Amino acid sequence: MKLRCGFFKFTGCSGCQMEILRLEDELPPLLEMIEIAYWPMVTSKRWEENLDIAFVEGSVSTPREVKEIKEIRKRSRHLVAFGECAITGCIPSIRNFMTQSEAEETVYEHTDWIESIKPSEISEYVRTDISLPGCPPHRNTILEVIKAVALQRKPHLKHHSVCVECKLKDNNCLLTTEKRPCMGPVTNAGCGAICPSLNRECEGCYGPMSAANASSQSQILAEIGLSMDDVKRKFRKYAGTTDEYRKEAA
Ligand code: SF4
Ligand code: SF4
Ligand code: SF4
Repeated sequence: MKLRCGFFKFTGCSGCQMEILRLEDELPPLLEMIEIAYWPMVTSKRWEENLDIAFVEGSVSTPREVKEIKEIRKRSRHLVAFGECAITGCIPSIRNFMTQSEAEETVYEHTDWIESIKPSEISEYVRTDISLPGCPPHRNTILEVIKAVALQRKPHLKHHSVCVECKLKDNNCLLTTEKRPCMGPVTNAGCGAICPSLNRECEGCYGPMSAANASSQSQILAEIGLSMDDVKRKFRKYAGTTDEYRKEAA
């Protein structure tokens, strides 16, 4: 029997959902294995039946989304926090470093109609079963999650740092040899160290790795010449409200 999947979008940019469409070659065989029961981006089908897997993209930032995530939890066997917005609050959570009124007045001329609350990771409201890291997650990890649910096992996802993947690629270290502000040492692996492999610093878009040593990273960034404001911005960018980064981002 096919796995019944639903794809939901909360406060995010749709980039995680786009990553599924980028599967291209894998999509036809994948559709032999899953049924798309709900996915407003690709079909007008209404959500009627309960789900085997709900992929939820985006952070929760409105009262309507709070209600909806509770409903999704009730009607789904596996709830996947799909991408960093859903896991850490990610880019929308940068807003949490200003007051609600300041944020609203910066964006909207008339704020009376805005129904907005602090953007949060979805685990603030409901239990999640799987966290699929990345902004967006690599498409191979999306396949891994679907396979794992189908085989009733845990997905094999990485919890070490981007530096491990970077070293396996034999890259020159941008942080230690060129004194460039790379967030690889505290960032969860999974992307294959794409940025350092292209001579770009890791910005931390896979969120904090397991047991990330944020205070040490903060000290190193200061030593290579970043101002304390810039160090804060580095930690705020993708996961500033997480337990791991909160102190450095404040
Ligand atoms: S995690 Fe990144 S790609 Fe996914 S919705 Fe959020 S901002 Fe977009
Ligand atoms: S370049 Fe960045 S990701 Fe690569 S080893 Fe150095 S600090 Fe780690
Ligand atoms: S290297 Fe860092 S910023 Fe680049 S994709 Fe990987 S986790 Fe994201």
